[in-house]
Amino acid sequence: MVPLKMKIMDDLWQVAGDGFTAPEDAAGYLIRFGKSAALIDAGTGKRHDRLVRNISACLPPETGIECLFLTHCHYDHAGGAGGIRNHYGCRIVAHAHDAVFLEAGDGLTTAAKWYGAVQDKIAIDQKIHAEEAEFAVGDGRITAYFCPGHSPGSLVYTAELNGFRVLFGQDVHGPLHRDLKSDARAYAGSLEFLLSLNADILCEGHFGVFRGKESVRRFISSYLPGRV
Ligand SMILES: [Zn+2]
Ligand SMILES: [Zn+2]
Repeated sequence: MVPLKMKIMDDLWQVAGDGFTAPEDAAGYLIRFGKSAALIDAGTGKRHDRLVRNISACLPPETGIECLFLTHCHYDHAGGAGGIRNHYGCRIVAHAHDAVFLEAGDGLTTAAKWYGAVQDKIAIDQKIHAEEAEFAVGDGRITAYFCPGHSPGSLVYTAELNGFRVLFGQDVHGPLHRDLKSDARAYAGSLEFLLSLNADILCEGHFGVFRGKESVRRFISSYLPGRV
């Protein structure tokens, strides 16, 4: 089968999502940092085989995935995390406030039940407790920022790639729901914070890639309360 991947720029690809892996999957992004690589979100895991195939098509054989960075605990982003760790031997990073739901296999808060699925218990190797945390991956860096609201422990990540500030802000759009333990006030604050990051490119979970500061700003702003 032909690998399905979309090159966003040198060393950055979309490898998971509808049209790439399973239709239910949120977007997963692969970043190469020299001899190492990182994956942002893993999809549901329903088409783990396709995800691995897509990743292999982007990386030289000797380059492995060092870190899987989860934006949050929802099934469409994190369901496949355990399979990716098994395959690559990478570590899984998530915010402590969302790690608890993955480690407990909480099908409601992870939204697995919305998909008619069971949430496997997934141990999180590195739990972020701070507002901000920086990670070295290969010859590059990824910064995590705590952006609660959509889920209690939502994170966004940034990386400086080819001179651009790339923001991985999955589920910037929400939704907010009681089952997900969403917090509307925190959500509004997080959106304002995302604007302050002044990113050049936004790699989003369900709406694709936004290029250019103005386009990123417009998308994030459209979800600010009172602006929709
Ligand atoms: Zn979500
Ligand atoms: Zn999602």
